[in-house]
Amino acid sequence: MQILDGKALSKKIEAEVAEGVKKLKSETSRVPGLAVILVGNDPASHAYVGMKKKACDRVGFYSVTHEMPETISQEAIEQTIDMMNKNPNIDGILIQLPLPKHIDTTRLLEIVAPQKDVDGFHPYNVGRLATGLDGFVPCTPLGVMELFKEYNIDLKGKDAVVVGASDIVGKPMAALLLNANATVTVTHIYTKDLAAHTRSADIVLVGAGVINLIKEDMVKDGAIVIDIGINRNEEGRLVGDVDFENVSRKCSYITPVPGGVGPMTIAILLKNTLKAAQANS
Ligand code: NAD
Repeated sequence: MQILDGKALSKKIEAEVAEGVKKLKSETSRVPGLAVILVGNDPASHAYVGMKKKACDRVGFYSVTHEMPETISQEAIEQTIDMMNKNPNIDGILIQLPLPKHIDTTRLLEIVAPQKDVDGFHPYNVGRLATGLDGFVPCTPLGVMELFKEYNIDLKGKDAVVVGASDIVGKPMAALLLNANATVTVTHIYTKDLAAHTRSADIVLVGAGVINLIKEDMVKDGAIVIDIGINRNEEGRLVGDVDFENVSRKCSYITPVPGGVGPMTIAILLKNTLKAAQANS
């Protein structure tokens, strides 16, 4: 069994991005800029934004966080997005999700300029991904693809089962795997017999947010298991959706939590923002 080390690969990508920033600065006298919109007091959202800000600092980006109270109006957020769309120092706009219930998230994602949509959530970029065209791809699933590339895992013809079908994880993950010529099954909460699907898979990718959802008897010998889940267990420890201890014994490759897909997400956000800045310069 080999661990897919997202921590190591993310450091490598960060170093490449930092090089790219230096080059851009020397050629254009500008650095990539990322604007983050953070609404409310959710501790997890604040922690994620904090990590993203530190990563921006490490690679030499300009970054700004627009912190807004839980009670902020839809209109006020839209005005901020509009301002960021027009700001030439901002290359990427990120709306930290989830947003409070009174906010229309879909509408906000749709008004971000597609060329600044470094999270890849705008329908324009979703459509480009679905048709296999270049665009911005959501950071977490693209991070998984980078891990496959780093470890020379060929996806062509492989049976891949994606567990979880959200717009930010499962659906774009499935689109990327399909574009790489894997045979893809997408499962979700209403799937009748999850184990029947995962047991026959060469690759199981799970992002459901359920501790220990994938157990030893649900994967075949030699399977590749990608754990996208991030949960806190009863002791407050970060764990994924896979029973790592028992499942890892059967795998050819597996991602740990923490240290697997998580760090890749931030590394790809940096990569996407640099890409936006290069295109805007
Ligand atoms: P979500 O709640 O939007 O979607 C969860 C999906 O899982 C849904 O499609 C649902 O139908 C499915 N699901 C839930 N329970 C299931 C079950 N018992 N069997 C089969 N399918 C089930 O969540 P999300 O935003 O997609 O996040 C999923 C997980 O991935 C969470 O743990 C989240 O913290 C994690 N996540 C990690 C990263 C990262 O950087 N590694 C990024 C985003 C999300």
